[in-house]
Amino acid sequence: PIAHLTKQKEFWSLSLQINEHTLIPRPETEILVKTALSYIAKDSGLNVLDLGTGSGAIAIAIASERPLAKITATDKSKEALNVANSNAKANKINNLNFINADWFNIENNILYDVIVSNPPYISDDDEHLKKGDVRFEPLSALASGKEGLDDLTIIISQAGKNLKEGGWLLVEHGYNQAKHVQQLFKENNFASVSTIKDYSDNDRVTIGQKK
Ligand code: GLN
Repeated sequence: PIAHLTKQKEFWSLSLQINEHTLIPRPETEILVKTALSYIAKDSGLNVLDLGTGSGAIAIAIASERPLAKITATDKSKEALNVANSNAKANKINNLNFINADWFNIENNILYDVIVSNPPYISDDDEHLKKGDVRFEPLSALASGKEGLDDLTIIISQAGKNLKEGGWLLVEHGYNQAKHVQQLFKENNFASVSTIKDYSDNDRVTIGQKK
């Protein structure tokens, strides 16, 4: 990948360092950022959680747009967190803290106002994983079980534990997963569930509000 040669990638209006331990940020993930920002008022000190932050792209974009919000970003990979940490420093972000954790195994009792995640969501046996740039990205950031839904299922079913009543969960997913993801939201006590399309008119982000 070109981003591995230059060791950097533009995302939102930021220049991010990336390496072989992190997913290369995709333009469609800006939809997730844009949607999340619409639930975080400029003058609010809301608590926001980004699960599986990778290079920190989503968390840093939100932190830079909402300097009063308090952002927490997690990753189970320490190598990824090192990258995210140095990206936060390089972009002079000081309202963002990091936790080394696998999804909701975060040892804090904070109830977040907004939770976002771009988890792995590709099927383990998707041919796409054997082609082009994705071959050089961490499989742990891309593949998620037979239908690509293993991690989305964990996130949507456990989010209630760390989400305020009335708070929003926003997840990125595959173009053909909206129906199943909406179902998961509804089974787990979320209301106002809806899906937002990306620039290519594919279903990409589903959101819901905790009842
Ligand atoms: N959208 C990416 C791709 O198709 C996958 C990103 C992800 O799994 N979160 O390569």
